[in-house]
Amino acid sequence: MIKVSISRLQKEPVELIGVEPAAFLELGNEEQFAVVSDVSYDLTAHCVSGNALVSGVVRVTIEGVCGRCLEPVRREIATEKLQLLFPLESVADELDISEDVRSEMLLALPMNLLCREDCAGLCPVCGVNRNKKKCRCHERATGSPVWSALDDLKLE
Ligand SMILES: [Zn+2]
Ligand SMILES: [Zn+2]
Repeated sequence: MIKVSISRLQKEPVELIGVEPAAFLELGNEEQFAVVSDVSYDLTAHCVSGNALVSGVVRVTIEGVCGRCLEPVRREIATEKLQLLFPLESVADELDISEDVRSEMLLALPMNLLCREDCAGLCPVCGVNRNKKKCRCHERATGSPVWSALDDLKLE
């Protein structure tokens, strides 16, 4: 639970630095990756005209396989700088911001994990990892005979 004490907040900005276990994100098994670190947050709450303004960053490390080439991927994912606003009218003494922090972190997780943006993936014909090795399946299927002939020449 990530909570802000209202009495403290009304006196001074409150720093919220800490970790929650990965289970905090309540991710299902259907994801293409697993969260392999704690959820770490570094946030500051300010009192701004009757609201709590929370800003900062939340981070996790994920591990999975690239959606195109199936190579293992390990990556730190950080949210964009958060800006969350909570009206304080109906809050008694503690403001629980867990749910909002959780959804911001979920939004930052990739829909499709890739080892890199321009991953070339596996060749659908021969199965070779095209990041590591060039195969000529594509050229054989769609390339013009002239270019194929030139390629053959270069190999010799
Ligand atoms: Zn890849
Ligand atoms: Zn191929």
